[in-house]
Amino acid sequence: PNKYTNSRLLFERAMKVIPAGVYGHLGPVEGSMIPPSAFPFFAREAKGAYFWDVDGNRFIDYMCAYGPNILGYRDDDVDQAARAQGELGDCVTLPSVKMVEFAEQLVATVHSADWAFFAKNGGDVTSFALMIARAATGRNKAVLVNKGYHGVAAWTKLAGNSGIAPEEIANNLYVDWNNIGQLEALISAYPGQIACFIASPYFQGNFVDNQLPEQEYWQKVRSLCTKHGIVLIIDDVRCGFRLDLAGSDHHYGFEADLICFCKALANGYNVSALCGKDELKSAASSVFYTGSYWFSAVPFAAGIATLNKLKAIQAPQRLQELGSRLTSGLAGVAAGHGIDLRISGELPMWYMRIANDPSQVLHQEWIAACVQRGVFFTNHHNHFINAALTEEDIAFTLEVADDAFRAVKKMHPELEGVS
Ligand code: PMP
Repeated sequence: PNKYTNSRLLFERAMKVIPAGVYGHLGPVEGSMIPPSAFPFFAREAKGAYFWDVDGNRFIDYMCAYGPNILGYRDDDVDQAARAQGELGDCVTLPSVKMVEFAEQLVATVHSADWAFFAKNGGDVTSFALMIARAATGRNKAVLVNKGYHGVAAWTKLAGNSGIAPEEIANNLYVDWNNIGQLEALISAYPGQIACFIASPYFQGNFVDNQLPEQEYWQKVRSLCTKHGIVLIIDDVRCGFRLDLAGSDHHYGFEADLICFCKALANGYNVSALCGKDELKSAASSVFYTGSYWFSAVPFAAGIATLNKLKAIQAPQRLQELGSRLTSGLAGVAAGHGIDLRISGELPMWYMRIANDPSQVLHQEWIAACVQRGVFFTNHHNHFINAALTEEDIAFTLEVADDAFRAVKKMHPELEGVS
């Protein structure tokens, strides 16, 4: 198993000068989404499908920086475009031609886009989408999906979350995923008060199987929103460009009014985008919204190169094929050990869970054993495929998974009976 001496020392230093050391969901806290003892805490470098930690251990990285890595880390074509722009300038008083070119490219690529607006993080554009919906409709309420995730702004939080005033979430209404009846009930209960419905294109909850939209779900949501003047916002921050370069709404056969992109948009360079329909352009212009680095030219150049390459290699098809081979392989290896490994969600971003054990302990132990052998998975979050992943990487992953199941069964004599 891997040794993490330098990671642990660095974490001790971090704890002294950074709140929580490594913050957010990546923090090595017991009960978090990683089994801390098995995980490295700091990376030294990354290339293609791999990263190396500060102790020199190599990992095939199935978290892809939680989404930004889609072509492979430090992709040569993207990095070259970024470097070329860097020689001209990055953060300057005025925006560059790259901003206009990138917006033109998104409008040409994303089916529901008549315009594009750039910021930095996913949460910047989900919050902007909500503000535009309010500006356009003169209404305040927003319908969200229970257990959905749209960032860290106050409106995305729940009552009782640390640092949140009840007023900040007083306009939120909630429905369960795939539940049209609940949406209809809210529309009747709050006539003329709902500004928007916001959701990811399919349900990507943590700690639960991911769920695809049921037949006609999105078409029904679309027609309800159109009928009642509700702005339909798709949060494509996580899925964007992994399912369909024209947008995940297009993939599921409908058109959003506003669509939010971030993670895979520039293969790790720091930019997010909100795209929208012409009818919402003047509302978007009416909202004062900007940030210190939002006009930076290097990420725009990287984004242009990323989209060009995603098109050239037909990335969504490739990610689907790789995801299909990997997940059927993993489920097969598990079955060989008598273990039911459930795969859910879309395969370029599959979610997995050992179904034999409701306590989830087996699953966590297996994930830990994989990580200790150089395959970077996470416990209760979807994973990500990138296009640099090779057949050899998949073969190595399946060997590691097999060995890890063997190790877990050794720790659990009660499982020895199962083949
Ligand atoms: N929406 C979704 C669906 C996401 O997955 C994320 C990030 N995990 C966000 C919004 C927020 O993006 P960011 O962390 O870049 O603000």
